[in-house]
Amino acid sequence: PAPVVAVVGRPNVGKSTLVNRLIGRRQAVVEDVPGVTRDRVPYDANWNGRRFTVVDTGGWEPDAKDRARAIADQAEIAVQTADVVVFVVDVTVGATDVDEAAVKMLRRSAKPVILVANKADNQTLEIEATSLWSMGLGEPYPISALHGRGSGDLLDAVLDAM
Ligand code: GDP
Ligand code: MG
Repeated sequence: PAPVVAVVGRPNVGKSTLVNRLIGRRQAVVEDVPGVTRDRVPYDANWNGRRFTVVDTGGWEPDAKDRARAIADQAEIAVQTADVVVFVVDVTVGATDVDEAAVKMLRRSAKPVILVANKADNQTLEIEATSLWSMGLGEPYPISALHGRGSGDLLDAVLDAM
């Protein structure tokens, strides 16, 4: 079976937009309101002739209750069943407490994690992404999922990690 890449992060950081970049078509649903992606949704992808599966997830939140808890549980299952995890942070917001809690969950999983600094739409924000080295997940990859900036380097890193 093709290797599996799970895309996780807080609601609204741009996971579904990034998934569409990674798969090269607009299939994952992008919404301004959080909580649209509830389950784990797999998409077939191909980069430099290598096939893999990209799994979009709903926003991960610690201590969530009810429906939000169910969404967070799905994200954790996606991490546990992935070969590589792409962890998305909104660089215009920076690392929040929720992001730090997610890092702990990711460490427990012991999966290879690639840190994406999304919404790096311009050079200033791209430079800002270096502040995310402090999260302890290695090199932050500045990306604009919306405009495509940086997505080639990210795909190369994802394939290297598989
Ligand atoms: P998700 O909840 O993490 O899946 O986030 P979505 O992909 O649904 O995106 C949430 C909002 O962020 C939408 O309005 C997107 O258009 C916007 N967005 C996503 N990626 C970017 C980006 O790279 N730059 C900017 N400026 N906005 C983005
Ligand atoms: Mg989404």
